[in-house]
Amino acid sequence: MECALRTDGQLSLENRLLNYTLHPKDPGLSIDFRGAVDERAASVLTELLARLNAQDVVLNMQLVEYFNSLGIRAWAGFIKQLAPGRTLAYTHCPPDFINQINMMPLLAQSVSILSFAAEFICPDCNHSQRESFDATQSKAGILAAFEKVSCSHCAAGMFPDEDPETILYFKNPKI
Ligand SMILES: [Zn+2]
Repeated sequence: MECALRTDGQLSLENRLLNYTLHPKDPGLSIDFRGAVDERAASVLTELLARLNAQDVVLNMQLVEYFNSLGIRAWAGFIKQLAPGRTLAYTHCPPDFINQINMMPLLAQSVSILSFAAEFICPDCNHSQRESFDATQSKAGILAAFEKVSCSHCAAGMFPDEDPETILYFKNPKI
């Protein structure tokens, strides 16, 4: 979210329009997304689909900062059209995006999740920090990595801000 000072001096919160940068890689393409997946995302994603030829596509979600239901619907449609005949992967999924995937597994049905971030809180000094994890390891491996997170301020062991089972729902076997 971006803060803007209105003319009346009040602070307003404005979501940035979804945008992206394409980075060729070997093989394929990496796409760095930024901004909000909201009701304005559909036209951005339609335009992007039209210019994508690569078969191997990495979707870097690190700087995507807001999701709403219309945006997620557009995103699901984008993935559905992008997936056939392609190898797709998400990297750097922020906590909000992992929540969306856990609520709507089809967002990742045909996309591998390579890495994600979770928010941790220090029980001693209340500091919070975001930590990144390799999503390709086993659920037990990720849970063990969660237990090793320590506070950058006071070195105490930290806890995820949500139940680990809730965060890692996407790692459960698909029924
Ligand atoms: Zn601390």
